[in-house]
Amino acid sequence: MVGKLHPSLDRVLDAHTHLSGSDSGESPDAIVSTMDDAGVDKAFVFAPLLNTRSWQLDEDDLEHIQTHNDYCADICSAAPERLYGFCVLNPTPSLGGGDKHQAVSLMVEELHRCYHDLGLRGVKMVPSGWYPNDPAMLPLYEAIANAHMYTVFHVGIFLDAKEGSFCRPAFYEQVHQVSTMRVQLAHLGWPWVDETLAVLAQEKMTHGSDPARWQMRADVSFGPPDDWQLSSWERALTSVEPQRLIYGSDGFWPMEADRYVQAHLLPQLGVFETAATLGHVAEEGTDERHQLRQQIFFDNAWSHWCNAVREPQAPRRAGRTISTPQAAQKAH
Ligand SMILES: [Zn+2]
Repeated sequence: MVGKLHPSLDRVLDAHTHLSGSDSGESPDAIVSTMDDAGVDKAFVFAPLLNTRSWQLDEDDLEHIQTHNDYCADICSAAPERLYGFCVLNPTPSLGGGDKHQAVSLMVEELHRCYHDLGLRGVKMVPSGWYPNDPAMLPLYEAIANAHMYTVFHVGIFLDAKEGSFCRPAFYEQVHQVSTMRVQLAHLGWPWVDETLAVLAQEKMTHGSDPARWQMRADVSFGPPDDWQLSSWERALTSVEPQRLIYGSDGFWPMEADRYVQAHLLPQLGVFETAATLGHVAEEGTDERHQLRQQIFFDNAWSHWCNAVREPQAPRRAGRTISTPQAAQKAH
């Protein structure tokens, strides 16, 4: 189908998708079938987020976090070559009775459980109640890097009115203190697109030109409202190395293939093509344009993942139905 949609788009990796939980009717078969029909080869799949009630987490929510991570591993176990599972961790102090160090320790423990028991290799974090540049977070970053796991951070304002001030792009500079950590900054950090690009560009000086050494790339899932999409893409394509940019839909499963193509893949391809032309980045119809398209829609996320992850994921099947009544069915 993608061959028809765009003859020169060989493969697609969607690096930003969300599970909606057991009440949504999603299933691995339905997700894979949508991907087949939409021409998507691989997807990064995040465990369901907790619903708004639990945005201020308390100690009981540790169990909900674990259940959601179990659920994600179970879904991805059905197609481990297609669905790459991400546990969701949240080192917010309220989870540790108000003690941030305790909260970080609990999340390090959960991280190890997700790696060893659940076979997951991805981590998704949405800072709220904690700052990503707090030195207290370093033990968690070190544990992630030592486990060779890949991290996606939410960056930017939330579109559903949650508090975005914890998620400014420059706060992620602390990642550079753990040199083997590999992260994906989501949404180009909207509305702080300039700040996100500045943080990425900083690595030119500190990490050189070999993409294997880069710690940060950014997904272009939106993110910016309609009026800013083209200018955000254009600025991204012209101010950082295009190998830093990653396609992501920010879609919530379950979704029909038609909806996926029309709401995500096709519009993003269209904006990419226009931005590449207007930005004079790679001429239309050239091998260079083909290669650039292929990098952004597949290779950049995949090579970043392969640079982070040592042992392939082996998501654990649950062997029972997991119920996730605390899941948020749509969030940012
Ligand atoms: Zn998202």
